Amino acid sequence: MPELPEVETIKNDLAGLVVRCRIERVEVLDRLVVRYPDVPTFVQRVERAEILSVRRRAKYLLLSLSSGYILSIQLMVTGQLLATKPEEPRRKGLRLIFDLDDGSQLRLVDSSFLARVGALSEGELESEFHLDELGPEANAPDLTLERFKERLRARRGMIKPLLLDQRLVAGLGNIYADEVLFAVRIGPRCRVEDLSDEDISRIYDAMRRILTAAIAQRGTTTRSYRDVLGRKGAYQSSLMVHARAGQPCPSCGGPVQSSMIGGRVAYFCPACQR
Ligand SMILES: [Zn+2]
Repeated sequence: MPELPEVETIKNDLAGLVVRCRIERVEVLDRLVVRYPDVPTFVQRVERAEILSVRRRAKYLLLSLSSGYILSIQLMVTGQLLATKPEEPRRKGLRLIFDLDDGSQLRLVDSSFLARVGALSEGELESEFHLDELGPEANAPDLTLERFKERLRARRGMIKPLLLDQRLVAGLGNIYADEVLFAVRIGPRCRVEDLSDEDISRIYDAMRRILTAAIAQRGTTTRSYRDVLGRKGAYQSSLMVHARAGQPCPSCGGPVQSSMIGGRVAYFCPACQR
C-alpha cells in the first residue's frame, strides 16, 4: 500500500509531468472509481480544466484545477497512476483515463477496485473527506519533537497502532511503522504510557530519518507500487523487518516474527525489540 514516501514520489512525478496540462477528456471505465460527487458531475468538473498544481495530504493526491475544483486521487492498496501514450495497450484493471492536451494520458490502474477519485471544492474536501481531522504530516517541518511528544502523550495504548493512526500523525503506514520501531528496538505491543521521553525522541528521529531515506529511494515496492513512469521504488532493499517474516534479523540473526496487532500484520524481532 502506498504510504507517505510513495505518494510523495508520485506527487513529485506529477508536478514535473502534468502541471500546466489541460485535461481534454476523462473516460470513466468503472463508475465505482468516482467517490465524489456523481460520475456526470465529476466529468463536468474535470474536463477542459487545466492542472494548476499538485500536493499531497496524508495518502491523498490533490490536484488543483482551473475550474476551481480539486481532483483527489486515493490509490489505496494496489492503485497505480501511470503516464502513458494513448496507443499503449489497455491493461486489465484499467479504471479511468485522463486525456491530456500534450497528447499523453494519465491512467488509473487498480486490480483491487479500491482506488478512488473525486472532484471537490475546498469546502467539500473538508466536509466529505474530513481532512481537518488528520494529524500533521509525519515529515512536515512544523511537526517538531515537542509537538510529536505532546500528541503521543495524549494517547494510551500500543505504539504500533498509534503510529498508524492518521489522526495522530499522517502518512505512516504498516511498512514504515514496522521499520521505525525496529530502528529504535521498541516492540510493536509496547504501550505508549511505558515509553520514556528519550524513547519518544528516538522514535521521532527514526521516523524522520527513515521517511527521508525512503523518499530519496523513491519509495518501497514490496508488491504493486509503481511511480508515474511505471518504475519500482528502491527502498525495499533497505527494509530490516517489514515483510521479512522467518528471515534472519539483520541485527541478531534470529527469525523475524509477524503477528496481528491492532488488526494489521506487524513484523518485528522479538529478541531485539522490547
Ligand atoms: Zn534481532
